[in-house]
Amino acid sequence: MGEAAAGQQADVVVLGAGMVGVSAALAARARGRSVIIVDRREPGSETSYGNAGILSSGSILPLNTPSLWKNLPRYLGNTHPALRWNLPWAIANAGWVVRFLASAVPAQTKPRAAALNGLIGASLKLHRDWIVKAGAGHRIRETGWLKAWRGDALAAAKAEQAALAEFGITSEVLDRQGISALEPNIIPAYSVGLLHTQTASVDSPGAVVKAYAQMFADGGGIVRQSEIRRIEPQGDGWRVLLADGTIAARHVVVALGPWSAELLQPLGYRVPLAFERGYHQHFAPNPARRLLRPIHDSNGGFLMTPMEQGIRITSGVELTARDAPSNFAQLEAVVPMARSVAEFGEAVGERWRGARPTLPDSLPMIGAAPRHRGLWLAFGNQHIGFTTGTGTGAAIAAMIAGDAPPFDVSAFAPRRYIA
Ligand SMILES: Cc1cc2nc3c(=O)[nH]c(=O)nc-3n(C[C@H](O)[C@H](O)[C@H](O)COP(=O)(O)OP(=O)(O)OC[C@H]3O[C@@H](n4cnc5c(N)ncnc54)[C@H](O)[C@@H]3O)c2cc1C
Repeated sequence: MGEAAAGQQADVVVLGAGMVGVSAALAARARGRSVIIVDRREPGSETSYGNAGILSSGSILPLNTPSLWKNLPRYLGNTHPALRWNLPWAIANAGWVVRFLASAVPAQTKPRAAALNGLIGASLKLHRDWIVKAGAGHRIRETGWLKAWRGDALAAAKAEQAALAEFGITSEVLDRQGISALEPNIIPAYSVGLLHTQTASVDSPGAVVKAYAQMFADGGGIVRQSEIRRIEPQGDGWRVLLADGTIAARHVVVALGPWSAELLQPLGYRVPLAFERGYHQHFAPNPARRLLRPIHDSNGGFLMTPMEQGIRITSGVELTARDAPSNFAQLEAVVPMARSVAEFGEAVGERWRGARPTLPDSLPMIGAAPRHRGLWLAFGNQHIGFTTGTGTGAAIAAMIAGDAPPFDVSAFAPRRYIA
């Protein structure tokens, strides 16, 4: 992998080698196009590295659904580990905040859930196929995902189960004994659980992206490591200006995750992309007390996932500027909560920070840029981009070829935010 010649040409150049970009590159290459993917880092080194590794069937209800209003008073004090926000950022981005809250109404819940369900269904099918073909089948666990509550949350669990069932997504409500039978090595701190049975997880999201990128390279795709500076229309295609050269291509796919909006600004597109930042830290697992699946602690808004590097604890949401200094308070607050459930050793390695790229309606942008032929937008996959990267990429490759995408993409049209 890795080629750095100046003045390259391709049918398609994909910008960004996270899960979304690698998937778009792989899918376009599979359709016979010549494809170059560019990233300043190795594939799968940013957001697609640090996530919780869940391939979630049930994440069809984003953060901004009507239940957000019930929880809002809890979050306003800015002490809850599930959601912190920065006041100066909120004032400067009041437009985004208002539109985000305006989406949290009943009329917008089902249409968005249906749209995400289509995207997720297509994405999971591709993951289960590609992960085996890429030689990374040993990384996937088909053990589901457990959401768990400490108090009396039976009604909440049943309501979520009913909402998922409307879309054919199966889950099981569990009591304390049921949770212990499923996860015999955890301390019985949870009284109610909801097992998302069709959800899978992986033990190293970054390694899975790298395996997909290697499969792309093995199939004749080019992976180039370079800083992307700018894109410009050229003839009936595009010129991509890199730190060490240029690429000319008929089609450009912008899949830069949380960095996508700034590349589009010089073309006159002002994309309302915000950043739901999150942190992780690994802890040495106790081999006698292994976790068998990711566990979402609903009270603390954090996750514990067994990973190759240890138990990865991922924090809730921090709404602030993408590059603001790290504030580890949220992560530090949940580690003792995690220790009250799972037995694990000392911290391993550095703490990590990333940013979930989120548009006000919590749906990604998947489709053509309104005013530029051959410019394709594929970003904004919020909390579920590791899952939905494959479907997002496959849809873009289909649209480039003039074919129908594998699911209904109308709700993801870039035109809903940019003209
Ligand atoms: C704490 C946390 C937990 C999460 N858990 C899950 C989960 O369990 N399941 C799930 O499905 N999703 C999860 N997510 C969300 C998921 O990780 C993201 O939605 C997804 O990784 C976004 O992928 P992407 O390809 O759009 O972006 P990225 O993976 O960030 O890729 C963008 C790429 O663009 C490159 N780039 C940017 N600017 C430039 C430039 N100028 N030049 C060159 N290269 C550039 C970057 O190096 C990067 O590799 C989680 C996110 C976080 C933060």
